[in-house]
Amino acid sequence: MDIKITLMDLKKQYATVKDEIDKAIQGILASQSFIMGKEMRLFEEHLAQYCGVKHAIGVNSGTDALLLALKAIDINEGDEVITSPFTFFATAEAIVNSGAKPVFADISEDSFNIDPDKIEEKITKNTKAIMPVHIFGQAAEMEKIALIAQKHGLKVIEDCAQAIGAARNGKKTGSFGDMGAFSFYPGKNLGAFGDGGAVTTNSEKLRDKILLLRNHGSSPTEKYSNVAIGCNSRLDNLQAAVLDIKLKALDKWLQYRNKAGAYYSQELSNLPLTPPKTTDANVHTFHLYSLKMKNRDGMIQHLLDNGIESRAYYPYPMHLQPALKYLGLKKGSLPVSEKVADEIFSIPIHENIPKTDQDIVIEAIKKYFLK
Ligand SMILES: *Cc1c(COP(=O)(O)O)cnc(C)c1O
Repeated sequence: MDIKITLMDLKKQYATVKDEIDKAIQGILASQSFIMGKEMRLFEEHLAQYCGVKHAIGVNSGTDALLLALKAIDINEGDEVITSPFTFFATAEAIVNSGAKPVFADISEDSFNIDPDKIEEKITKNTKAIMPVHIFGQAAEMEKIALIAQKHGLKVIEDCAQAIGAARNGKKTGSFGDMGAFSFYPGKNLGAFGDGGAVTTNSEKLRDKILLLRNHGSSPTEKYSNVAIGCNSRLDNLQAAVLDIKLKALDKWLQYRNKAGAYYSQELSNLPLTPPKTTDANVHTFHLYSLKMKNRDGMIQHLLDNGIESRAYYPYPMHLQPALKYLGLKKGSLPVSEKVADEIFSIPIHENIPKTDQDIVIEAIKKYFLK
């Protein structure tokens, strides 16, 4: 059966901002100025304001944002970074590419985020940083994580790729740690027309390091004097212009997602599945609406048969990924993340999903249990 209700709908989103974006793109095409221009600087300024931080630095992708943030705190070979095993692969990959060893602390079954009570037992003399991931658009327990980091002298880098605009106790993600790493991959809640990312920070020193790293270590005062080994990871003007326009609509989009999520949760209670949990402290932005149930593969197939897109985000915890086998972590070592990976599935949610589509999804899920 053809898919009628998709997980996201970027065409619909584009239609709501098309005039303004097309005009901005035409302007950049006319100027033929593509790199490190005023569009990038304006977006960086607006993003910093939005997140409630002093600085935002545009980079090439969320993956690069994570990697450059790690490089900026001088990670060396043999260092360890504690993170969540339940995330997109890029989180762990960035840690490996920085030269460090990823160390996984298990997650909370309620939030799917790293469990602060599991972090301290993973700290060794080699631990340099904690990298919590705000998974699915809900902030991790940053207050507890900050206390642990302070006590042990560790840096905190937030993986905010899925959680722009998500707040906890009135503070936005990307403003809790030493740095926040954002992704503007097209399907993220704030998506570019290609790849993009950003690092946020309140530290001038870290900002200056990221500025160097993203552009070949090129001295800010003398372009062809290269004072650090960096890379080419700039956010281009076309992407920045698109993002700056979408950023103005973001709060409205996130509010809609939050409402749509609440509606699902209300209608899907009292079934043999677990809707995502949130707390009064958190403003959830539902990048993904993910539920848990036994035999989720049967449910995914049933929904597909009914024209509804559904997928397991994510079927494998990091420690069971083939590429990370060398870490020597066995099945059973992080049981909560393993259970969640076995039971999780996501259903359609986006900033324009009609309630009538949600009702079709809800009815299809209910029908599955009557079979
Ligand atoms: C998308 C994502 C990334 C990587 O971002 P890219 O822009 O695709 O490089 C990192 N971490 C998480 C949790 C993500 O969802």
